[in-house]
Amino acid sequence: MADREDAFRAPKGTNDILPPASWWWERARRRAEDIFATSGYAPVETPMFENTEVFERGVGQATEVVTKQMYTFSDLGGRSLTLRPEGTAPVVRAMLEKNLHRGALPIKLYYAGWMFRQERPQKGRYRQFFQVGIEAIGSDAARADAEVVWLGAHFIRSMGVEPTVHLNSIGHPDESCRGGYIKILVAFLDEHRDELAADDRERISTNPLRTFDSKEASTIAVMEGAPLIADHLCDACRKHFEAVQQDLRNVGIAFTLAPRLVRGLDYYTRTAFEYTAGGLGSQDAIGGGGRYDGLAEALGGPHVPGIGFALGIDRLRLAAGEPEVDQHPVDVYIVALGEDAGRRSFELATRLRTAGVGADLDLMGRGLKGQMKDADRSGARWAVILGEDEMASGNATIRDLTTGEQRTAAFDEVEAELTR
Ligand code: AMP
Repeated sequence: MADREDAFRAPKGTNDILPPASWWWERARRRAEDIFATSGYAPVETPMFENTEVFERGVGQATEVVTKQMYTFSDLGGRSLTLRPEGTAPVVRAMLEKNLHRGALPIKLYYAGWMFRQERPQKGRYRQFFQVGIEAIGSDAARADAEVVWLGAHFIRSMGVEPTVHLNSIGHPDESCRGGYIKILVAFLDEHRDELAADDRERISTNPLRTFDSKEASTIAVMEGAPLIADHLCDACRKHFEAVQQDLRNVGIAFTLAPRLVRGLDYYTRTAFEYTAGGLGSQDAIGGGGRYDGLAEALGGPHVPGIGFALGIDRLRLAAGEPEVDQHPVDVYIVALGEDAGRRSFELATRLRTAGVGADLDLMGRGLKGQMKDADRSGARWAVILGEDEMASGNATIRDLTTGEQRTAAFDEVEAELTR
């Protein structure tokens, strides 16, 4: 028996999404599409796998996602491919391939899709998970940052969750800004080398900013006293950051300044942000994003600024609790007795469905009682009954399943009667 159960078990870290929960997913997806399109974003689809180097360059060799979490495999032609762990690098890769950046700017795109990372599964952390995201590419204006930050918060709210918005600026990589700051940070980390967790000690040379992301208590304690990028931004980056905040205040988005919120790679610039929500335990981030003005270059293209976010729909659902599920029941359930009535019921169902009326019928060969139960269970407003009397008279009975009221209509008029 145990073997049988194992045979049916989905792979570790993956989830089946079955009704009724799947209705909530559909709704989240459609809501995202509506909301993003309403702000001028167009849908984009990229392959679920890419050449591995797209992520090595576009996510970064020094990140855990690339070093530890990618599903990488060779295809029959010996190419190294990777299931996408995130959506931004593929979108920017597609833009470069099709030269979109040489056309009208900005390029505003949204995506919704499955991502894959070999992480240790726990609540809110899976190996296949669903993200919706947007990318606003081609503008370096602070208003683009504000639009993106606002839009993510707006979507999360529209799904019944109140996010906390954490906001930071990490400047740009030049010496006059983050570059200079990193030196100060490295000097500080060197001074405290012995107090850092072993993994974090290595980061001093590979990816010093990432020490702020450490989950190790000893490192966290050291970082409490670390110098902060906010105090070392160049004038242009400080002004940009102030303009973003101004725009967000202007449209009523409350945010918390988060001077320890970082993204560890050179092509991330200026604005970095995250949305969190209560009730999620240690995995409390619903989404995050930031400006990636150096990403197109990291992928081998020209300089094209951009900013975007990705939101995890699995976490959004956890944060929403057990949300009321908006199912999509049929309008009509057709109850039919006997061969002739059965034929008629299928005919009627197809006519109603073609006219856009949700209709369902018996596919199990049940008796009258069973079919009436199915009609109730279907959530339909009406049952159309084709029994012996009805077949003899040529009139169907239409029963309102909420009030129990009944009326009759000639077979050919059922559709008109129901769409009236
Ligand atoms: P990231 O691309 O790491 O910035 O993640 C953006 C969002 O995607 C996170 O805030 C989560 O909501 C979601 N996410 C990332 N990794 C996972 C995962 N392994 N399982 C579920 N959701 C995830």
